[in-house]
Amino acid sequence: SIVFLNGSYMPMDEAKISPMDRGFLFGDGIYEVIPSYDGKLVGFAPHIERMDQGMDLIGIKFGYSQDEWRAVCENLIEKNGGGNLGIYLHVSRGTDSKRFHAYPEDVEATVFAFVFEIPAAPVADKAVAKAYKVSSTEDLRWKRCNIKSTALLGNVMHFQQGYESGNNEIILYNADGEMTEGSACNAYIVKDGVVITPPLDHQILPGITRLMLLDILAKDGSIKVEERIVTMDEVRNADEIWLTSSSKEIAPVVELDGQPVGDGQIGATWEKAQALYSAGKYNY
Ligand code: PLP
Repeated sequence: SIVFLNGSYMPMDEAKISPMDRGFLFGDGIYEVIPSYDGKLVGFAPHIERMDQGMDLIGIKFGYSQDEWRAVCENLIEKNGGGNLGIYLHVSRGTDSKRFHAYPEDVEATVFAFVFEIPAAPVADKAVAKAYKVSSTEDLRWKRCNIKSTALLGNVMHFQQGYESGNNEIILYNADGEMTEGSACNAYIVKDGVVITPPLDHQILPGITRLMLLDILAKDGSIKVEERIVTMDEVRNADEIWLTSSSKEIAPVVELDGQPVGDGQIGATWEKAQALYSAGKYNY
């Protein structure tokens, strides 16, 4: 595939960075994944805004405008033949001559982008949608989960735990037994027709799919949404559980820790919400 590195396009196997890059040594960087279907980007502006906020939060000075990022995305889609693609954008603090924790002052950020194939967007039909199975475990990541950092070892280890037990994802909860999110997605329950998801704070990533879904549901008005603490007791008694991420959209969960969620089938509220999301997702 063709990738983008520090201003140039090149085949993946020609893209080289120094092992002294702080992204490699410290996981010192910020990333994004933007989905695109047949060349149409989903949530481009909010994705770039979140990336800019992440770089501000960790003091990386790198200033591509939205237009410059859009050109990178569109060029990569075109050079790689289109289709259903996730576009990975990555800015690390850059390459230093020494390994010293403090932010260096005179390094240039490293910017890298590549595309990978993603599944076709889910169709809002219970009969054909992929049903997810998840496990759950205590969230052992750090207290800055709002930063979309490339340092993902906590997420990777949690995902692996779910994966090794035959699940598609793992739902995390804090020391108080409150659901935070999945290892690579946001989490929701549905109870008596109301969609409930934890509020944005340092415990979760402010997902762009979450942002768009809540906005779409608010504008439609037919499904009530609450942003509040969700206990694991509530999760275990939910009618439906959903996960959202850029590459999954809304994923319906039918099994939690080996037990059926609700009646063990994909729910009616999921079907309605996914239909609304499918119809509205290109407006962001
Ligand atoms: N939470 C975590 C930990 C993630 O890694 C992701 C992204 O993959 C999400 C939530 C969902 O974010 P988005 O909807 O922006 O893809």
